Amino acid sequence: MTSPAPVVLAFLDPAFPDGRVADATQPQLLVTDLGVTRGDGVFETMLAVGGTVRKMQAHLDRLGGSAAALDLAIPDQEAWRRVIAAAVARHRSENPPADPAADELVVKLVVTRGVEGEAPTAWVQASPAGAAGRRQRETGIDVILLDRGYDSDVAERAPWLLLGAKTLSYAVNMAALRHAHKQGADDVIFLSSDGRVLEGPTSTVLLAHVEKSDDGTTVKRLITPQLDSGILAGTSQGALFAAAKAAGWELGYGPLEPRDLMDADAVWLISSVRLLAPVNRIDGKEIGTPSVQKELTAELSGLFAAIH
Ligand code: PLP
Repeated sequence: MTSPAPVVLAFLDPAFPDGRVADATQPQLLVTDLGVTRGDGVFETMLAVGGTVRKMQAHLDRLGGSAAALDLAIPDQEAWRRVIAAAVARHRSENPPADPAADELVVKLVVTRGVEGEAPTAWVQASPAGAAGRRQRETGIDVILLDRGYDSDVAERAPWLLLGAKTLSYAVNMAALRHAHKQGADDVIFLSSDGRVLEGPTSTVLLAHVEKSDDGTTVKRLITPQLDSGILAGTSQGALFAAAKAAGWELGYGPLEPRDLMDADAVWLISSVRLLAPVNRIDGKEIGTPSVQKELTAELSGLFAAIH
C-alpha cells in the first residue's frame, strides 16, 4: 500500500498569525459547517514551484471577488499571505523535495460559511502535485463537448447562480469529468445552451491561429471565450495573455463556437496546477496541426513558466 501524500493544514485564526496547524489525518470540521452541508463557501487552487506560489495576487483577488459574490466576510490578504508562506515552508521542511523537477505543491485556500451564526472557517492546505497533471502537459488530452444547460447571458441576468465565482459547489464539475472518463476522454469543454464555447470544469479554453500576413510576417493570435459568458476568469489565462502580448501575439476574446475549436491550429485547456494541456481530439476528431501545435505549445509553455 502506498502511504498517503503528506498534507500540511493550517487554519486562519487571529490567535495564530502564521496559522493554527492541524493534523490533516484527523477530523477538523464540525458536521454542521455550512461548507459541508450546503457547499456554501469559496476556494482557490494555486501552484507553488520551488516554494514560491505562482500568481499569488491574482488568486487572492479572485478569492476576494468570489467571497464578495457570496456576501462572505473572509480574512484579509495579509493574513492569507502569512499562513500560505508558513504552510508552504512547513511542507518543504517536513518533506524535502527529492526531485527538483517535481518540486510542485498544490496550495488550496478554502473558506466556508462556518456553523450557522458563527464566523467563516478558513484554511490553507498544501500537498504535493500529482504526476497526472504533469503527464497531460506532455501527452495532451482528449476532450468531449458537454452542454452546461445555461445560455451565455445568464450570468448577468441571474447573478445568484454565482457562475463567475469559484464556489465550493463543484459537484457538477466533477460529475462532468466522470462522465468524460466513462466515455474514454480526459476532460470536458462546456457549451452554453445557445452553442457558445465556455470553459472546462477546472480550466480555461484557449485556441490559436497562425497566419502569414501580406508582407510575409507570421501573425499569431491567441483567443479565449469572452469573460462575460458565465465563466470563471482564469488567473492562468490572464497571466498568459499578458505575457503573449508582450511577446508579440495578437489577443482575442470570443464569442466562440465549436467549429472555431475544430478550425484552430491548436487548442489548450489551461489552469494553475496542470498548466497548459494541449487538446488532441474533441469528440473523437483530431484537431489542430500537430507540428504547429507542438511548436506553439513549447512557446506558450515557456512564456507561462516564466510567470510568477
Ligand atoms: N475555470 C474553472 C471552472 C476552474 O475551476 C478553473 C480552475 O480551477 C479555471 C477556469 C482556471 O483557473 P486558473 O487558471 O485560475 O487556475
